[in-house]
Amino acid sequence: MNCVIISIGDELLDGRTLDSNSAWLAGELGGLGIRVVECITVPDEPERIIRALRRGFDISEIVITTGGLGPTDDDLTRGALAEYLGVKLTRDNRVLDGIKEIFAGRGIIMPPNVAREALIPVGARPLKNSVGVAPGLFIPMNDSRLLIALPGVPPEMRAIFCEELAPLLLERGGGIRPNIESLFTVGIPESALFERVSRASSGFGTEGLAFYPSNIGVEVRIDTGAGDNNAAERLRLIREAVEPWRYSNSEKSLPAVVGGLLSRSGRTVSTAESCTGGLLSSRLVDVPGASDWFPGGIVSYSNEAKAEMLGVGRDILEKFGAVSPQVALSMASGAARLFGSTFALSTTGIAGPSGGTDEKPVGLVYYALHTPERTFVRRNRFTRGREDHRYRTSQSALAMLWLWLEGKYKDHPWEDGSREIEL
Ligand code: AMP
Ligand code: MG
Repeated sequence: MNCVIISIGDELLDGRTLDSNSAWLAGELGGLGIRVVECITVPDEPERIIRALRRGFDISEIVITTGGLGPTDDDLTRGALAEYLGVKLTRDNRVLDGIKEIFAGRGIIMPPNVAREALIPVGARPLKNSVGVAPGLFIPMNDSRLLIALPGVPPEMRAIFCEELAPLLLERGGGIRPNIESLFTVGIPESALFERVSRASSGFGTEGLAFYPSNIGVEVRIDTGAGDNNAAERLRLIREAVEPWRYSNSEKSLPAVVGGLLSRSGRTVSTAESCTGGLLSSRLVDVPGASDWFPGGIVSYSNEAKAEMLGVGRDILEKFGAVSPQVALSMASGAARLFGSTFALSTTGIAGPSGGTDEKPVGLVYYALHTPERTFVRRNRFTRGREDHRYRTSQSALAMLWLWLEGKYKDHPWEDGSREIEL
């Protein structure tokens, strides 16, 4: 089954809001075996919405819209759907009662315009919105085509999809799920990974093989198609080629992988961050259950904070500067001491755009791993701006810990341009 997604909203076309709904929906639909063949973005204008609906049904059986179902005058999707279908909007009293209940439960009076959200095109079935007010709309058309409208607010769109829509789509017999394996890697650039993978699987061609680089690593995706012997052998060779850098086949989050390794062995990690400004801690806390293995972290941006909170020697700071391997090591040891954790990670660098010197250029970074055995510090340089610098630094520090926990740190074939600093 094919599907077209139509994202509706002025804010999606003038650069204010990134259309994350399409990406999320496409991923979920793929998991159900429904292939998204086109994503269309249109403003809150009925004529353009209708034109997009026509286009959608020209090329697919399912069209899903998101956005424009709110209670204000700029939310025009409902009317456009009715016009496209050639039906009237009618008030659904059960939906209206549900909306009244939501407001009563919140203890606030329902503004009259909210009643609009109970207007639905004749023939549509409302999809319950468990986290908001506007219901989704499920509209089976006479010739087995299916039109679905979801609210634009991402958590509402997701809740309706998971709780109401996905079961209905499965009932209608989802498509054939693709046989895809993802290998999540860290610490090797796309080009180097491509070299190794191509060499290893050269007899099998490149069909169904794709590389997706980002500032946290490279995802290698293999569509194993029919899953025959050939496919299995190819997969084995590719896996072998990426093995030293592969942290997961299913979990994109390196913090989650590290957290799992820590919690299974009853160990903990704390953080001492300068240039990452809390990003490392924040990414660790994104993992449910982090409290089992993450006692805490310190954001120590100034020299004073590094000295006061982490016990970094003022003489060291004076002599080597805040961005130095000596300070990174001392920060990591300080955090381990302060939190009584098994491990600690630290970061200190020059994210730029200012603050660089000939000796310490913009992008320079040191990150350290404290272990009960010894403390290691590595140096690298990331030059694609502040945000990229923070992500790559946090990921590089996590990769050190991941390799250590896997017992692979010492023999690792480093390909990320980093080097260990021996003091
Ligand atoms: P709406 O359902 O049109 O009232 O959308 C409400 C809010 O959801 C908007 O103000 C946006 O912040 C957000 N939103 C709408 N469409 C999208 C989208 N495609 N991706 C991400 N956020 C969206
Ligand atoms: Mg809108």
